[in-house]
Amino acid sequence: MASHIVGYPRMGPKRELKFALESFWDGKSSAEDLEKVATDLRASIWKQMAGAGIKYIPSNTFSYYDQVLDTTAMLGAVPERYSWTGGEIGFSTYFSMARGNATVPAMEMTKWFDTNYHFIVPELGPNTKFSYSSHKAVNEYKEAKALGVDTVPVLVGPVSYLLLSKPAKGVEKSFALLSLLSSILPVYKRSSPRVTNEEVQKAAAALKGSDHRRATNVSARLDAQQKKLNLPVLPTTTIGSFPQTVELRRVRREYKAKKISEEEYISAIKEEISKVVKIQEELDIDVLVHGEPERNDMVEYFGEQLSGFAFTANGWVQSYGSRCVKPPIIYGDVSRPNPMTVFWSKLAQSMTSRPMKGMLTGPVTILNWSFVRNDQPRFETCYQIALAIKKEVEDLEAGGIQVIQIDEAALREGLPLRKAEHAFYLDWAVHSFRITNCGVQDTTQIHTHMCYSNFNDIIHSIINMDADVITIENSRSDEKLLSVFREGVKYGAGIGPGVYDIHSPRIPSTEEIADRVNKMLAVLDTNILWVNPDCGLKTRKYNEVKPALTNMVSAAKLIRTQL
Ligand code: GLN
Ligand code: ZN
Repeated sequence: MASHIVGYPRMGPKRELKFALESFWDGKSSAEDLEKVATDLRASIWKQMAGAGIKYIPSNTFSYYDQVLDTTAMLGAVPERYSWTGGEIGFSTYFSMARGNATVPAMEMTKWFDTNYHFIVPELGPNTKFSYSSHKAVNEYKEAKALGVDTVPVLVGPVSYLLLSKPAKGVEKSFALLSLLSSILPVYKRSSPRVTNEEVQKAAAALKGSDHRRATNVSARLDAQQKKLNLPVLPTTTIGSFPQTVELRRVRREYKAKKISEEEYISAIKEEISKVVKIQEELDIDVLVHGEPERNDMVEYFGEQLSGFAFTANGWVQSYGSRCVKPPIIYGDVSRPNPMTVFWSKLAQSMTSRPMKGMLTGPVTILNWSFVRNDQPRFETCYQIALAIKKEVEDLEAGGIQVIQIDEAALREGLPLRKAEHAFYLDWAVHSFRITNCGVQDTTQIHTHMCYSNFNDIIHSIINMDADVITIENSRSDEKLLSVFREGVKYGAGIGPGVYDIHSPRIPSTEEIADRVNKMLAVLDTNILWVNPDCGLKTRKYNEVKPALTNMVSAAKLIRTQL
């Protein structure tokens, strides 16, 4: 059972505050003297509460005069007659409101909820301007924290504050004080610059009204891309990652722990990329990947480079079998201070004349695989991530990357339980994806990848993502996926239903893969079908990956000769 108290007598055991106040008002002591008495009093109270073992210790229960007047000061709701000109409210304005001064009378005082405590009645009207003008609550919190006491700040709530107020002189008696609620809430507001980024908020809010769709339709885009990429029919590719070796993990770990220098790290990763590029060229794969050796995880890697994300050391969540992920925590507005993948993608592209896929995680997947702040709707956070990824897409394109894959492995995972809410979710999720790439040229090919999930009932949303090519994890449920196309869904974009299962160490034969591809060709047009494994290869070993991909490429080549 945790103990908590909501307030504490503030005059001091021997009315120390009373004597300090009266001496200050009489001009017998200075403001510093008064502040010193107040500071000592607060410290002794907090220590006393902490010493008594109270778990939730309040702060901001201290006041030089009255907590409602303190709130008036916090909100900057100083009646005009006190000639306050802005800035942090000091003793002179504060005590003038409480007690009047030589020229101006005090504000009205009345009894607090039928008790004998009196508070200073706020005077408000339609023209009252509010601004954050007393940081007392935050200052007291910090003061206690510096003493080692983590407190619960106590505030007069916004509704109570307004209902305890009265219409100012000259304002109609019937004035609805609660109509000021929306004006005072911004002053009350959860605004650390680490959480709030107004520029991002504005940009994200501006997205809602528009559709964000590439101007040209997908078949015309595919034609334009083919002219540039010149790929064979049934092009082969992989999903992104190549095996994560013990050595690779060691390099990343040691770089993170600053045991190896940036140069050493870059050269180790560069070597790995060049090895992966060589393997793919030898295998004769058509669209290459760099293998993602610099990434620990497809969400954590991006979260670490975006603002608004925090990380745990051991917040593991089981994914499947023995595999776990460590979801980041999104606590603030999301922005991308610097390019995240451009350096590696350009480096990888420079090693080959074949197209190299830029590899990104999409906004919906970053959202669904994180612990997400709950002080704003999820779609707003998702739009913010989408804008950050959009910048990355544009930088990759400007860097000469012609094929960009934006993984939406977890698109379906955010689907609400209630069917009635599906359409709304799918609408903003798919919209977020389109935001990331609506601005690229027709000749830039946008891929997306989705992991195992049920596609059939969301196929129209998937089409609505308007990617040029989608690779889908499918090898454990061939029939289910293909049935949707058999039932007549029109699909015009490129599609690569995975031809073998990467979650298993088993190596599929050429015949087995060819058989699968043929089954797909029975329902999908030849010119849209891609041949690829069903997910990234990072959990596999090279002695599994090499023969499996060899057979995959052979199967594609075999079928090309039969077309
Ligand atoms: N590009 C990622 C990879 O290949 C995709 C992983 C995933 O879909 N879960 O690892
Ligand atoms: Zn996948």
